[in-house]
Amino acid sequence: MNLYEYQAKELFRKYGIPVPNGKFAASTSDIQWEKFPVVIKAQVLVGGRGKAGGIKFAEDKKDLQAKAAEILSMSIKGLKVRSVYLEEKLDIAKEYYVSITLDRSKRKPIIMATTEGGVEIEDVPDDKIVKYWTDPVIGYSAFIGKEISFKLKLPDQEAKQFQVILSRMYDLYNDYDAELVEINPLVVTRSGTIIAGDAKVIVDSDSLFRHKDLGENAAERSELEEIAYKRGYSLVELDGNIGVIANGAGLTMGTLDGLTLKGGKPRNFLDLGGSDDVEKVVGAFEILKMANPKGILINIFGGVTHCDTVANGIIEARKRVGIDVPIVTRLSGVNEDPGKKILEENGINSYGDMMDAIEEIVKVVNKQ
Ligand code: GDP
Ligand code: MG
Repeated sequence: MNLYEYQAKELFRKYGIPVPNGKFAASTSDIQWEKFPVVIKAQVLVGGRGKAGGIKFAEDKKDLQAKAAEILSMSIKGLKVRSVYLEEKLDIAKEYYVSITLDRSKRKPIIMATTEGGVEIEDVPDDKIVKYWTDPVIGYSAFIGKEISFKLKLPDQEAKQFQVILSRMYDLYNDYDAELVEINPLVVTRSGTIIAGDAKVIVDSDSLFRHKDLGENAAERSELEEIAYKRGYSLVELDGNIGVIANGAGLTMGTLDGLTLKGGKPRNFLDLGGSDDVEKVVGAFEILKMANPKGILINIFGGVTHCDTVANGIIEARKRVGIDVPIVTRLSGVNEDPGKKILEENGINSYGDMMDAIEEIVKVVNKQ
């Protein structure tokens, strides 16, 4: 479970990790603040709020009301902003980055730190990132913090503060069964104090029974994801242009991987699930139509879901939903032959091999 910034900062406070004074506000009537300038931060479970306009500075009360109202009416990456966090504005001299997460391939926690923070860690050159894998049995020791701050070439005054913060982050990471504890930016102020400018904590959802103090955050859904959810589909919006319908979560994810591998950009994840129902297929097309894809790829491995049912669903959807973008299908498994025949009679290409279908849809969409 992803924690909001204000929740993560509450945990930081509990662990003695320095954070700016702040106040959570869920509506415009809660927006009150005395000391200016103040930072207004959208509380949504995505990164890059700064770039999206979800972080603003206000100089006085009037400015604050106006900018807070503006942020509260925004959507960031498809997610409606429902609350903001007000925070004293830091006088930033430098922005560092530090995180602890699990390296699954090495089966060890990994600490990553860089003095080039403030941007996403994926954008920092690898040779600028200090990495340290801890032994999960032995845990954290003071020398780890010393070694990392030495490699970061931190001045003495900063190194001491950094080491305290890191050891407290590690305690939090362990105590809360966290998958990630990240501070970006880890701010060095003009007066030389190190303080967490942002906070990201992901707690292993299977451990929530051990952390009753956290409650449960409802999963955040975009408007389209909400519509799909209410209609019984599991849809995840992505930022590409090829609509995807597949059956089974594993095959659907494999389809997205295949598309990406071949230079295509998936618009969504949509799993038909284990039903054998023409209406379910038609409903999936209704949702995809709202996503405005440039082409649609159907990837079905027939089992509980019969291939001919899906074929009939596609034909029905074309008639009733009015799909006017190219459709490419891959049908394999139960009732594959009758399914292919139905599609052929209606002029829709179908393939038995998934990668052939993927190549075809990428070609067709990229030609447009
Ligand atoms: P994110 O974009 O969602 O990661 O949100 P952050 O909380 O990390 O803020 C993004 C950027 O806004 C930071 O890297 C800073 O450059 C800037 N920022 C945030 N808070 C402050 C602040 O208190 N003072 C100043 N000067 N800049 C801030
Ligand atoms: Mg950040």
